[in-house]
Amino acid sequence: MHEMSLAEGIIQLLEGQAKAQDFQRVKQVWLSIGELAGVEVEALDFCLEVVSRDTLADGARFHFVRQPGEGWCLACSQQVAIHARFDACPLCGKHQVQVTGGDEMRVSELEVE
Ligand SMILES: [Zn+2]
Repeated sequence: MHEMSLAEGIIQLLEGQAKAQDFQRVKQVWLSIGELAGVEVEALDFCLEVVSRDTLADGARFHFVRQPGEGWCLACSQQVAIHARFDACPLCGKHQVQVTGGDEMRVSELEVE
């Protein structure tokens, strides 16, 4: 389950931020998750609960904000919405879509004390 390593990465990132910005506790975290990032939100939520125990994020609330997938169709020369990494272009049906957005996960906002 790669959500476990993602969750560990998030906690490490929070610990790094805590050192850099001098805070002790994380109360709420907003995660921006692209539709094409291949992240199972329910699994990630569970993993975060497990790995945040006894860390600065123990008891923190995690919010998940989904970002739509975006691609650029080489055949149409247009920006199109896609819902999976290897989706065909919704306009022309060709598989010449390059992913341009919605393929990453990042921490978008933090509430700390
Ligand atoms: Zn197209």
